[in-house]
Amino acid sequence: PQPSHLIGLIGSGIGPSLSPALHEREADELGLRYQYRRLDLLELDVTPERISELLEAARLTGYTGLNLTHPVKQLVIAHLDMISEEAAVVGAVNTVLFKGGKAFGYNTDASGFARSAMTGLAGTPMDQVVVLGAGGAGAAVAHALLAVGAGTVRVLDLDPDRSARLADALGAHFGRDRISGGSAGELKEALRDADGLAHATPTGMREHPGSAVPAALLRPDLWVAEIVYRPLETELLTAARAAGCRVLDGGRMAVFQAVDSFRLFTGIEPDAERMLRHFDEL
Ligand code: NAD
Repeated sequence: PQPSHLIGLIGSGIGPSLSPALHEREADELGLRYQYRRLDLLELDVTPERISELLEAARLTGYTGLNLTHPVKQLVIAHLDMISEEAAVVGAVNTVLFKGGKAFGYNTDASGFARSAMTGLAGTPMDQVVVLGAGGAGAAVAHALLAVGAGTVRVLDLDPDRSARLADALGAHFGRDRISGGSAGELKEALRDADGLAHATPTGMREHPGSAVPAALLRPDLWVAEIVYRPLETELLTAARAAGCRVLDGGRMAVFQAVDSFRLFTGIEPDAERMLRHFDEL
């Protein structure tokens, strides 16, 4: 008989997530039996610290795997049997696969951004790149940029300890001369000689309107990659287009992370182009 796949998304306030629709529609297209359920910590009234119980419950009740989002991407790591090198270096897991009674962790935000950058920024210089935001998303983006060949990455955060810790973890893997950390106040200086900027803070989301990057710092020879994707067109992207920058929106990363998770869950290669079209319709 055809296997059936049961997937859960664990996070806080995940009602608006597009992942269920993206995954299930692609599975329908491929003729798979596939259910993708939201397990919202707020609705379940479960604190993030109880992620180990949810993980165990999902494993015992036959879930194929899980996607994880804020605020459990880091917390989950302590409860997994094994994690990929990429997830270990990034320090966050957004995909868990159950196999043979064990739980395996992956980070498809990193691989998703890498594919998004390789397809959406092909041919642009990447000698020096600034990543703004050193949280889970910033870590995945910085990892991806170093993996696809950025020369040096400077990661800045309101919390300079956070960017220093990230630079330390990525530096140990990619080489200490390729990544450094600093505070958000250094943005102007860091952008002066940069080829590109990847924005990885929550600023620009519906719940956090605005832009973390003063428009005066944007110039035509600077590319700008956004990771916020709700809305797809953020204040930063609008300003970057107006300044003549080459831009990459956050939608492609969102789709490619789903592509990579789907492949891990099913062992089947989904049609990435079809999923990009689905995403545009959602
Ligand atoms: P997080 O809370 O873990 O990290 C955000 C970081 O940004 C924090 O360290 C914070 O100090 C820093 N920050 C906030 N404002 C700043 C500013 N003005 N300047 C510098 N640093 C600032 O959050 P996260 O999990 O990394 O998620 C960030 C965003 O990425 C969210 O909007 C999320 O929706 C988005 N995201 C998108 C994708 C995608 O596929 N496109 C994937 C993952 C996350």
